[in-house]
Amino acid sequence: MNAARTLPPGSTIGILGSGQLGRMTALAAARLGYRCIVYAPNAEGSIAAQVSAGHVQGAYDDTAALARFAGQVDVVTYEFENVPEGAVVECQKLKPVRPGVKPIHFAQHRLREKDFLRKLGIGTADYQPIRSDADIATATTLPGVLKTCTEGYDGKGQARVSTRAELMAAWQKLGRRECILEALVDFQCEISAIVARGLDGTTRCFPIGLNHHQGGILRTTHVPSNLPAAILATAERFGVELANGLELVGLVALEMFVTRDGRVLANEMAPRPHNSGHWTIDACVTSQFEQLVRAVCGLPLGSVDVLAASRMENLIGDEAKDWGRYLIDPTARLHLYGKGEARPGRKMGHVTFVTPTWAAPRSRI
Ligand code: AMP
Repeated sequence: MNAARTLPPGSTIGILGSGQLGRMTALAAARLGYRCIVYAPNAEGSIAAQVSAGHVQGAYDDTAALARFAGQVDVVTYEFENVPEGAVVECQKLKPVRPGVKPIHFAQHRLREKDFLRKLGIGTADYQPIRSDADIATATTLPGVLKTCTEGYDGKGQARVSTRAELMAAWQKLGRRECILEALVDFQCEISAIVARGLDGTTRCFPIGLNHHQGGILRTTHVPSNLPAAILATAERFGVELANGLELVGLVALEMFVTRDGRVLANEMAPRPHNSGHWTIDACVTSQFEQLVRAVCGLPLGSVDVLAASRMENLIGDEAKDWGRYLIDPTARLHLYGKGEARPGRKMGHVTFVTPTWAAPRSRI
């Protein structure tokens, strides 16, 4: 550990963005004695600000507000990859930004992202750009999934298509925006690698999670995944190569498909804590949020040893109203994000069901 570059407990971490990932980062930071200040256009009502030392409200192109924010913190991180690149560059003029600008540059644009993954030798499904009628007339990546290059998440901004006619209809519906057409992957399962990379370039990959999605939204993550060792090793290698390729200081999550014939293909990356890593709070020596805090503050990375087998379930929309049920389940660890309105599709919280590998003898007192 290079003491000169270490931000000791008591330092302040600035978080661009104000949702549940920022909130759980702020909670982990507080445990280690750090303060967090949140920046967002709606920081006043932010669920991350609820548990932070302070907030700065401002648009992502408000350079004066960004400077005021950066002036109050020792390091800046972000909790979502769609934070405008300009805001990150602005902060970087004043304070170190970790993970950095490069990760969001690639994560914000699906074509750029896929080209970058391929360049690193990370396998992906076949894909092609869709920018014009001519691209559609000659498209060969069918059946496929058409996705907007920017601003799509949780299955939004994408459509499955089998023919060029369907492709054209879907592209019109997406507003004829720049898109990527990816070959439809016949996968046996979906997995993710979450890799931390420290200031000294050390990397650590959390155990690979087995993910189940519904309607484009993550429903559950199981760890251990019980997949063959060779698949897990490939997934971990891809995650580490990505973290090194991005030269990031922080976390990156890489979502992947495992095809029926056992190949691992990367789908997308997120240079921040990831929903499929929430299990680490309750079932891993170091949580992904603590790991992010450690990385951005130049601390040694923590152990990724698993404490219990776990299944994380998202609580979406009205499902969070069942909170009472989880409180009486001795295997359930409940996390609610403090969001007001339970709109359909909105992630309101999650539950991690844990099965400890070792049970302490019961106290007789
Ligand atoms: P994404 O927004 O790219 O993470 O996609 C959301 C979900 O849609 C993924 O988790 C998959 O379940 C599904 N999906 C996305 N791309 C493909 C693909 N090329 N082939 C099959 N399923 C896909």
